[in-house]
Amino acid sequence: MTGKLLSIGECMVELMQAERDMLRKGYAGDTFNTAYYARLFLPADWTVDYFTAVGTDTVSDELLAFIESTGVGTAHIRRIEGRTPGLYMIHLKDGERSFSYWRSTSAAKLLADDPDRLRAAIEAANVVFFSGITLAILSPDAAETLLAELRRAKAGGRQVVFDPNIRPRLWDDAARMRATIEAGGRAATMVMPSFDDEATHFGDASVEATIERYRALGAENVAVKDGKNGVTLCFAGKERVHVPASQVSAVVDTTSAGDSFNGSFLARLASGDSPADAAAFAARIAAAVIGHHGALIGRDKLPRG
Ligand code: ADP
Repeated sequence: MTGKLLSIGECMVELMQAERDMLRKGYAGDTFNTAYYARLFLPADWTVDYFTAVGTDTVSDELLAFIESTGVGTAHIRRIEGRTPGLYMIHLKDGERSFSYWRSTSAAKLLADDPDRLRAAIEAANVVFFSGITLAILSPDAAETLLAELRRAKAGGRQVVFDPNIRPRLWDDAARMRATIEAGGRAATMVMPSFDDEATHFGDASVEATIERYRALGAENVAVKDGKNGVTLCFAGKERVHVPASQVSAVVDTTSAGDSFNGSFLARLASGDSPADAAAFAARIAAAVIGHHGALIGRDKLPRG
């Protein structure tokens, strides 16, 4: 079955220390990473598009060219005069990574400010993906605009997939953070949370508690990621299926473990795999991704089939 996947969020410019004061430039962001892995593993007759906003400057041109080079479509991306993409820098000190962000005026914060464009992009898709980071970067009004469109998509029979990706640093108020993440869960047909985050911010005592909470909000399908403990699936209210993580010989960089899992899982589900088979494949991909540096790993370094 052919189809269209749309991922909505912010892709940032990444600067990483190369040697001494030299910096290497890359591009990443949770929803873009997910789109990248979905594109790698979806059949060629599927399209994958990214929905965001960028500026009209050279860095924005380069970001769009990069997205296109991965096979992810940019036709829905709005360009806003006077804005630029968000930027972050990865510092490496004694093997430990830390991050600095410059994203408070990034163009992507305005991604929901053109509701007609947002609706047209969503209506063209079969599967729509968004995250708690997408919601966090928007003003409260803009987040509500996006959520209303996603609820409309769900009511219209589209698959709406939500990774809560809870990042307290991006929210000025913990109560609003929790309420907005819950609204994301209500707008979704499938939620793909990380157990650690949910336990920390919602007090879930077990993976089962996370599943029950999102099902109670109205998500029909839940896939709870739990790092090296694997994934627990609950599809259409049926019994839970636990899929173990794949062995990793050496964990090099856990960036994008969850995103690569999301993208490859969605790709295999769309291709007709059962949820358990799709999760076993996604676990192999995530394990390979964390065996390499960086968020976006080339297909030649990843397992086949
Ligand atoms: P996130 O990056 O969103 O916090 P997780 O840490 O739960 O997500 O990881 C997502 C997936 O990556 C897991 O479900 C698992 O398949 C894989 N994974 C993560 N950490 C490991 C690990 N140490 N060993 C093997 N697989 C892992």
